[in-house]
Amino acid sequence: MYKMMTPGPTMVAENVRSARSIETGNPDLDLDFYDFYKETCELYSGLLDTKNESLILSGEGILGLEAAVASVTEPGDRVLVLDNGVFGKGFADFVSIYGGEPVLYTTDYKKEIEAEPLREYLERDSDFKYATIVHCDTPSGMLNNISVICPLLKEYGILTVVDSVSGMFGNEVKVDEWGIDILCGGSQKTISCPIGLTLVTISEDAKRAMENRKTKIASFYANLLTFQHYYENKWFPYTMPVSDIYGLRQALENIKEDPDILKRHAQIAAKTREALTRAGLKLYAQNGYSNTVTVFTIPGGVKTADILKAMREEHNIMLAGSFDILAGEVIRIGHMGYNCTEENMKETLTALDAVLRKLGVELKSSVEFI
Ligand SMILES: *Cc1c(COP(=O)(O)O)cnc(C)c1O
Repeated sequence: MYKMMTPGPTMVAENVRSARSIETGNPDLDLDFYDFYKETCELYSGLLDTKNESLILSGEGILGLEAAVASVTEPGDRVLVLDNGVFGKGFADFVSIYGGEPVLYTTDYKKEIEAEPLREYLERDSDFKYATIVHCDTPSGMLNNISVICPLLKEYGILTVVDSVSGMFGNEVKVDEWGIDILCGGSQKTISCPIGLTLVTISEDAKRAMENRKTKIASFYANLLTFQHYYENKWFPYTMPVSDIYGLRQALENIKEDPDILKRHAQIAAKTREALTRAGLKLYAQNGYSNTVTVFTIPGGVKTADILKAMREEHNIMLAGSFDILAGEVIRIGHMGYNCTEENMKETLTALDAVLRKLGVELKSSVEFI
């Protein structure tokens, strides 16, 4: 097996893999499983400093984004889509699918969204049911300061939907303090489980918005209201993937027992950026660097595909290119969750140094994680 140093999926800890292989019962009929599910959701909410209810949905991270939009949007609703990255802009498609009117607020993709210009915009127009924002826009590694943007949106009475699938647990998230109405997470990023689960955390305001709809939610699988009263009624809308949830539980316990997780991500991300810039490589963004992924541009004349191929074939390490407008433009190194260790980054950057030299890239000094 190769080492995945991609910005999700990550490598998976042995205790998580083992938990996924425990013998399973029938999650619909086994009443204990309802407790296990609820306790796992509460553990997750606790790690995000919130009293809001979280739900684990069977489906990859994208399902969480779609479920948030499907559940809140009614035909004709105006939705402010904060766009400074590929995932940021992508929310507009979901909004349109469910009949809403997405209004794009597009800013420089190399910079985080700034509060003051947004405030000026909202002074002129704040007639939005909710706004979407991506915490860490993974294709560019852009981190938005949701501790400022979400409270600002709430000031104007706008509900906030935040995609922190690749942001949370590597970057701070305080759901209640920052006024995040729906937070979307996924199993395969910093949580470091295999792919397959998404998590949504829903505020009372967001629940009210769903309950007070005049029209029905135009989905079953992406309808968050189908989980209402699941615990009291001992009824899930569909049969839960027990093994995935056993794995998730262990991964969340791992995070709980790792009080330095945020500090470690910050340190390793800073050292990674230093190592690249010291060698003369350029980071893609000008500010807003996420602690979970580092994105750099490729010196002229060298193809990203050649770097990725050599990393994989000669060093057994998988890095990622990017997609959409960034396809072929950048390389992404994931340092999230279980992967975020000094040893992994030393190994990765030493290999990258060798590959870049072999491909004839002129470096100011060696790419070295110090
Ligand atoms: C990974 C990720 C998702 C889930 O989407 P996939 O691309 O299908 O893995 C959603 N949002 C963000 C910001 C992500 O990084």
